Amino acid sequence: MIPIAKPQISNEEIRAVTDVLKSGMLAQGKIVEKLEQEFASYIGVKYAIATNSGTSALHTALAAVGITKGDEIITTDFSFVASATCALMQNAKPVFCDIDPTTYNISTEDIEKKISKKTKAILPVHLYGQSCDMDTITEIARDHDLWVVEDACQAHGAEYRGKKVGAIGDVGVFSFYPTKNMTTGEGGIVTTNDEKIAERAKMFRSHGQSKQYVHEFLGFNYRMTNIAAAIGLAQLGHLDERNKRRQENATFLVEKLHNVAGIICPSVNPNGVHVFHQFTIRIEDEFPLSRDGLCNHLKEKGVGFGIHYPTPIHKQPLFKKLGYTDDHVDCPIAAEMSKRVLSLPVHPQLTADDLRFIVQTIHNVVREEQWMSA
Ligand SMILES: *Cc1c(COP(=O)(O)O)cnc(C)c1O
Repeated sequence: MIPIAKPQISNEEIRAVTDVLKSGMLAQGKIVEKLEQEFASYIGVKYAIATNSGTSALHTALAAVGITKGDEIITTDFSFVASATCALMQNAKPVFCDIDPTTYNISTEDIEKKISKKTKAILPVHLYGQSCDMDTITEIARDHDLWVVEDACQAHGAEYRGKKVGAIGDVGVFSFYPTKNMTTGEGGIVTTNDEKIAERAKMFRSHGQSKQYVHEFLGFNYRMTNIAAAIGLAQLGHLDERNKRRQENATFLVEKLHNVAGIICPSVNPNGVHVFHQFTIRIEDEFPLSRDGLCNHLKEKGVGFGIHYPTPIHKQPLFKKLGYTDDHVDCPIAAEMSKRVLSLPVHPQLTADDLRFIVQTIHNVVREEQWMSA
């Protein structure tokens, strides 16, 4: 079985974790600070604030810019659910936009249409490892006096016009979940150049504490452990080389699959650097099998895959219960893509044989189906 994701853990991580365990300083401390400094410098921002998940980092980012009850946050209908639930965590309301069918990222035309008097922030998601159209988003935000909170949970190292994502908006958010381009087990981090946002994020992560046992506002325990940070430091050192492997794997897959009728390969925006957190193809009607038919075939042959994502966020039971209906959330492209997308393995641990097996499995099923229908 070729897995869709595989975290790469070597003796370096094991040694680093062992050192922390032996030191006795397990909770947030010097090692977390070191990860924050190195990650900030990697992204090209002044401040980074580590947390215990990407989700808690999203919540922290919204709290730190002052999102509160009744505010509206504009985000995409086509992402992991946390891109929208973070607004609910601050008693704010996510407002969903449709997507661009070539990149699957938020449609900037739709953002303009969804702005109201209550809108306080735009939360673009750099889906699959590719930056959103940040020039347009930044311009819209400037015109309407809105915060830009980048969900870069899938885009460690991705760039847009020479700048790393997470350094373009007012604040950026990354996840270190094991399937992501780098991991700390569970973990996340907030990035910003704004000293006030950084200060509030730090306090929010630790019970709104300004100094020991002084609590200025409601916060949580969102702290990262030194154990997790030790893993993260080792991972960060390999991020560029592993992203390069992902890009090479993606290039191979595109080369071998772009001619298959009914398969649309990922398109790479020439203004940026795509880090291929996922390699997501789209299955069109000309393909001899449905998307789900192809999934069954891949499963049978031992090729891992993922559907990112099978359900637009506003159609989740959670949002239905909150009164979101298809009548007032109109995102037809997201709905269509959720039925057609399919992610293939692209992670850096794939061998040349794995890659050949993935494309051969797809070529074979096309040949079989054509033969049967002839
Ligand atoms: C992974 C992910 C998150 C959440 O990160 P966790 O570390 O799992 O909490 C949020 N948004 C996107 C787009 C993600 O891919």
